[in-house]
Amino acid sequence: MRPILYIVIPCYNEEKVLPVTAPMFMDKLTALCTDGKISDESRIMFVDDGSKDGTWDIITELSKQDEHFIGIRQSRNRGHQNAVLAGLMEAKSVCDITISIDCDGQDDIDAMDKMVEEYQNGCEIVYGVRHNRDSDTFFKRFSAESYYRLLKLMGVEAVFNHADYRLVSSRVLNEFSNFSEVNIFLRGLFPLVGFKSTSVYYERHERLAGESHYPLIKMLALAFEGITSLSVKPIHLITGMGCFIAFLSFVGVIWSVVVSFMGQAVVGWSSMTCIICFIGGIQLICLGILGEYIGKIYMEVKRRPRYIISERTEELTSDQFNHSD
Ligand code: UDP
Ligand code: MG
Repeated sequence: MRPILYIVIPCYNEEKVLPVTAPMFMDKLTALCTDGKISDESRIMFVDDGSKDGTWDIITELSKQDEHFIGIRQSRNRGHQNAVLAGLMEAKSVCDITISIDCDGQDDIDAMDKMVEEYQNGCEIVYGVRHNRDSDTFFKRFSAESYYRLLKLMGVEAVFNHADYRLVSSRVLNEFSNFSEVNIFLRGLFPLVGFKSTSVYYERHERLAGESHYPLIKMLALAFEGITSLSVKPIHLITGMGCFIAFLSFVGVIWSVVVSFMGQAVVGWSSMTCIICFIGGIQLICLGILGEYIGKIYMEVKRRPRYIISERTEELTSDQFNHSD
């Protein structure tokens, strides 16, 4: 059975690059079809993320020219992650596999062949991973790689050097739709769904036209989102710090009492120091404990699924459960 593939492409103010890359995506889809790797029912789905330029007009024009192009449009700009999510959720019930990719031609579309092959080999998620970061500036390379290391340190399971170019089967997407959180950082969430996955390596090029929508400040915001939406380790760190400072304060208390007994302290100094140290330590521990509970609430309100079954030796049907009591 040849799988139906939906290529999901977020676009925000991309009127310059879309006319260049849309034919490239179409050539790839056609090649995959003629090679017998995917079904002819496959589609290229553009998600217009509330563009203010002519992007949506280009998309509607493309869809009139060829039925393999389809488009959906967000009611307003909601950001890249939400645009990808919208496309994936729309596509999941009409296809077998999706590949999300940016519309600017930076990611090598030839990696799609390998992705589909890996799917045929039984992988449900295939991560597109950059070979190297030679095309980046030193600052971008350093900051990006440090960020992936920080994510790992914080216990977030993200694939090193993988952004949002990935194949995901609709089976995984169906499970993923149970992750009802609103703060989404897709590259950190998909590993949590589980299932068999692998990586495919590719070269990342320069943008073919137009400009990046991710200046430093937006990149930092995404980075912060990634950590705070997936990890409560910062709160554990505060608790740990609170305990450590409380210990230091305790030592400070003993020290000030000793200094006082030795008669070297100005009157009132020791009691003041004791109070400051004591209150400081207690306050930090309390903040940390409060933080631990807020962390729990934070994880609870996400309402993530508590288990996901990936295989069964046999399908259980309700007939097997005849409770004759
Ligand atoms: N994008 C989007 N909504 C936004 C910003 C960007 O859908 O609010 C899309 C954009 O059209 C592109 C992809 O997200 O297809 C990645 O954006 P960009 O190339 O500007 O980021 P960079 O590659 O520079 O990090
Ligand atoms: Mg880009």
